[in-house]
Amino acid sequence: MRPKLVVGNWKMNGSRAANASLLAGIVAGLDNANATCAVCVPAPYLQQCADTLAGGKLAWGAQDVSVHASGAYTGEVAASMLADFGCSYVIVGHSERRAYHGETDQVVAQKTLAALNAGLTPIVCVGETLEQREAGQTNVVVGRQLSAVLELLDVDAAARIVVAYEPVWAIGTGKTATPAMAQEVHAQLRSQLRERSAAAGERVAILYGGSMKPDNAAELMGQGDIDGGLIGGAALKAADFLAIIGAAA
Ligand code: PEP
Repeated sequence: MRPKLVVGNWKMNGSRAANASLLAGIVAGLDNANATCAVCVPAPYLQQCADTLAGGKLAWGAQDVSVHASGAYTGEVAASMLADFGCSYVIVGHSERRAYHGETDQVVAQKTLAALNAGLTPIVCVGETLEQREAGQTNVVVGRQLSAVLELLDVDAAARIVVAYEPVWAIGTGKTATPAMAQEVHAQLRSQLRERSAAAGERVAILYGGSMKPDNAAELMGQGDIDGGLIGGAALKAADFLAIIGAAA
């Protein structure tokens, strides 16, 4: 069985003072955690994470990465820079990046490769809009999004990613996919990974994200192909984030 992974996506929230208190609250409750846990924070706060969390049980990461290694790309952050700050993870292809910054499946694939080349674990987000779900396109959309990534990776690299299924209509809306709906998509993603290689099918964690909260986390993470959660709003309160981590049996 794959170990559970619970990752907080802070999005564009935080301040040095608020982060200090949130991180201290999370760390104080992690002693008995069975899951692997991480927070993905705004880039300016990576140093604060490195200072506060080094050597502990809570890993940290970023929310985006450049496809480029270095050079004249104003405002971009390279994967090697994230590694320099001790990041373990980076989220790529979040639906907010796809929707507001025009990231295509191909760009997401290149970001995934850049992260892997720097020794980071990319958390590759896939998910359908409400319109796509209602048109019966869910499996086609998430299948295409994952395929673009797998096509760019060799067999070894494909087994080193994390996938997050995040139905766009469930993000920040309070609407959650039912455990059965989520499991159905996760099972499809699992077979797609298995087709790429047995190792990818076996090792890659597939997280669910989209209004995961303390009261629905256990049921979602109890599904056979749901290996943890990518948590937005509920990751900003230590008690809620810890309750979700506690629900990851
Ligand atoms: C997210 O944005 O990755 C997310 C899952 O958000 P929320 O938990 O707030 O729906």
